[in-house]
Amino acid sequence: MNDSIHQSDLFAATPSANTSAAPPALGQSGSSAGVASPAEAVAPAPDPAADRAAATPSGTEPRQARPADPEPALALLAARCADCHRCGLAEGRQHVVVSRGNSRARLMVIGEGPGAQEDASGRPFVGRAGQLLDQMLASVGIDSERDAYIGNVVKCRPPDNRRPTPEEMAACLPFLQQQIALVDPAVILLAGATAMEGVLGIRGGITRLRGQWRLGEEGVLAGRWLMPVFHPSYLLRNASREQGSPKWLTWHDLKAVRTRLEQE
Ligand code: SF4
Repeated sequence: MNDSIHQSDLFAATPSANTSAAPPALGQSGSSAGVASPAEAVAPAPDPAADRAAATPSGTEPRQARPADPEPALALLAARCADCHRCGLAEGRQHVVVSRGNSRARLMVIGEGPGAQEDASGRPFVGRAGQLLDQMLASVGIDSERDAYIGNVVKCRPPDNRRPTPEEMAACLPFLQQQIALVDPAVILLAGATAMEGVLGIRGGITRLRGQWRLGEEGVLAGRWLMPVFHPSYLLRNASREQGSPKWLTWHDLKAVRTRLEQE
């Protein structure tokens, strides 16, 4: 039994029928052209209360549209990833790990990179951390396969599960930007400090910045809500469920994500 099972009272699954994360409206076309650097493309939410009330906040570039069916373009992208040797991580991989979940979901989850089980299976977040992620999302009524599209900052496993380097993240960023443009999520959950750095360009500070909404302003992030949270691997190492603990905080962060999805 993994650690996530022990947290069942904190991350107790709620009936999935109550989820509001239904597939989004389709029929628009997307592009990753003109993508700003991550740090330039986001801004802290200026007024959380007003932000929650605004379905399309003023003063921001609206989200670019996407194709009616993103699957053909995503399949092409996956094929390009499978042939990719842009960085040295290609050398040790068994599989390129691109995504799992629903490409029409309004929630996208971005983690760090594949671990051993992900490398072996070709699917992200399938190990113990992935199981905990699924349970955490289920605890707020989000089904990880139906209501979310899940990927990583880098698509090949770093040796010994080390953190990907900035150069490796930069090499893989165009693929991630294309995924965001094609899936067109309203909300992006950044799982851990590496995802926060790879997408937002912010190094460190996950403990301070987790749970804080940021609104993308430019490029592929424009109009999308982003929230950094603790990585599930960190939660596996910090099992406390006490008030104020990382798990307790993450549960509240995910409840805010659920609320945001209901408003979008
Ligand atoms: S991690 Fe990304 S950039 Fe590096 S080889 Fe794999 S797919 Fe290519």
